[in-house]
Formats: sequence, C-alpha cells, structure tokens
Amino acid sequence: MKKSLIKDLARQRFYGLVDIAFRLAREGKIDLASEVGRQAFKVAKKGGYRVPRKVKRMFCRRCYVPLIPGISSRVRIKNKGYPTIVVTCLNCGYIRRYPGKHEGTERGTKSDETHSPHRQEGSDR
Ligand SMILES: [Zn+2]
Repeated sequence: MKKSLIKDLARQRFYGLVDIAFRLAREGKIDLASEVGRQAFKVAKKGGYRVPRKVKRMFCRRCYVPLIPGISSRVRIKNKGYPTIVVTCLNCGYIRRYPGKHEGTERGTKSDETHSPHRQEGSDR
C-alpha cells in the first residue's frame, strides 16, 4: 500500500472521528466525546497525518474533549493592549491562552496589510 494512501485514509478517519466527537459533545456525552477525540488523534498519528493547528485547538490538549463554547469550554477574551483568547476546558479544567490577533487564519495574508486605511478592530465595546 502506498504511504500517501495510508495518510489519506488516516485523514479521512480522523475527520470522521472529529465529527462524531463533536456530535457526542453537543449531546452532552462528554466522556464518550473525549474518548473518541483521543482515538481521532491516535489514528492521525499512526497514519502520519499532521493535524492542522486550527483543528488541534478545537480539542482539549489534556483530555481530548472537543471544546465547544457553552458546552464543554468557556471562552473569554481579555484585552490588555492586545487581545488574548482564554479557553477553559470544563471537563478537566485545563486552561489555554492564545494570542487573538488573527482569528483562525495562519500567517500569509501579504496583500492587504499596506495601503488599506481602514482597520477592523474594536468596532464595538
Ligand atoms: Zn480537558
């Protein structure tokens, strides 16, 4: 079997499990969700699929619960000169902080940083 094919299968299985984990978490089955989440990352690792940071952030690093605001996580945004996103896992209490500069996006928007006079920050309190 080709290695790339295994990787592709791992990716597919990973996202399948991610989907299930989120569904379980929404149904309030946090224990199961964390179990499935753990499986998902195991599958990805085994198959050599590197999970994107964006997706990794949707899971608790410690207990692998899918972090859904209001269900399994609490999200606070602190602003001390720069915005910081504070995510607390309600299952195990693990706290993570992210700089909230660019939401979701990785680096790589080269085109629009200059020449645009309007900024989108702090539009409302
Ligand atoms: Zn947790």
